[in-house]
Amino acid sequence: MERNHLIKPTLDQDYPTISHGNGIYLYDTDGKQYIDGSSGAVTASIGHGVLDIVEAMTEQARKVSFAYRSHFTSGAAEALAKKLSELAPGDLNWSFFVNSGSEATETAMKIAIQHWQEKGFERKNRIISRWTSYHGITMGALSMSGHVPRRKRFVPLLEDFPSISAPYCYRCPHNNETSGCKLKCADELETAIQRVGSENIAAFIAEPIIGASAGAVTPPDGYYQRIKEICETYDILFIADEVMTGIGRTGKMFAMEHWGVTPDIIALGKGMSAGYTPIAATMITDRVMEPILKGSKSIMAGHTYSANPLSAAISLEVLSYIERNDLVRAAEEKGQYLFKKLQGLAEKFDIIGDVRGKGLLLGLEFVSDRVSKTPFDLQIGLTPRLVNKAFAKGLIIYPAAGAIEGIAGDAVIISPPLIITNEEIDRLVMILEASLDELQQELHAEGLI
Ligand code: PMP
Repeated sequence: MERNHLIKPTLDQDYPTISHGNGIYLYDTDGKQYIDGSSGAVTASIGHGVLDIVEAMTEQARKVSFAYRSHFTSGAAEALAKKLSELAPGDLNWSFFVNSGSEATETAMKIAIQHWQEKGFERKNRIISRWTSYHGITMGALSMSGHVPRRKRFVPLLEDFPSISAPYCYRCPHNNETSGCKLKCADELETAIQRVGSENIAAFIAEPIIGASAGAVTPPDGYYQRIKEICETYDILFIADEVMTGIGRTGKMFAMEHWGVTPDIIALGKGMSAGYTPIAATMITDRVMEPILKGSKSIMAGHTYSANPLSAAISLEVLSYIERNDLVRAAEEKGQYLFKKLQGLAEKFDIIGDVRGKGLLLGLEFVSDRVSKTPFDLQIGLTPRLVNKAFAKGLIIYPAAGAIEGIAGDAVIISPPLIITNEEIDRLVMILEASLDELQQELHAEGLI
């Protein structure tokens, strides 16, 4: 096969060619089987090759795949928006459809700014975000992302948005490990607002559980309650980026339900179609929508493929499949089982410093010394080495390392499809154990531990 025209993630790397998928398994064209232990990029939450989805897809395609949203609405898009409003907490009753998580957060930013403009607050247009975060690769989304390597080339073109620390308890930014948590990382939001002036700020954005930049970093209880309180006090909208955490992944339909906090805007992606088509959404509350409904009556965002009937029908069937098969509860139950297994690995391997996450969004962080929590030098490439070893043995895990040198260390995400069985979890953990064994021996031999 001619392989010199497709721009792949790393151009000098030889990638296997995908053949097909079934359940938690993927197969390459050489017949090798892989456990999709990360659901791709935390996406394939109902597993691969689900025929119910293929049927819904073909049924819609037989009717119509594309009709432009400026000309028509569709039964599928209307039904999907209604379904999401039923599933979402509070009065998050409105959905705007896009094609990727980056577009969903970018649109969230624009809607927040538009909301304030419609109310006459022209200057409320800054977004506060956190260092150690990832909200997407487009310029607006990247401006909000506290991820140094992904920003680096474009820094002069980016808005200077991220400003507060993440609630990274394993490496508490306020050294509260000994004195007890006083949620100072949440209070940083108040300080940031006071510095910039609430009259200049549209919104605060956060991933409920931090994914790609740190590996399932989970905030302390009370954190989001405090954040919401501060947002309300200063008239700042709260955007939850649930692109990775949403649609059941963490054992709740929306991760913010773990803390009983309803955001003003939610960005969704990945799990919305479980990988069966590109679709994402920005959901907003009645309160955020109100001045837009009264004012310009149109959201200044959108794409050619926004709300296309085919993607909407696929996503609708994915949501129905999740409900029919009780997969949100499965995420919680299987997550507890996998969490215990990962804790078992931490007892065996000293390089595992932290096991964390919720539901089936779990993370491992690695350290060269457990007591001092010393991270490995990123040049050692521990994360890619582990990911590559696992891949060679037929297990896919997701790298989440190096977002901010010296703050976020080496980490991986383990996030298999929500349909995984206990026996399949045992197999996943067995391969992970063998990969860690090999890695730990190598690090010993190199004198690094
Ligand atoms: N937000 C979060 C929390 C994500 O995890 C991601 C993807 N890793 C994005 C936004 C961007 O989504 P996409 O890659 O679909 O543009």
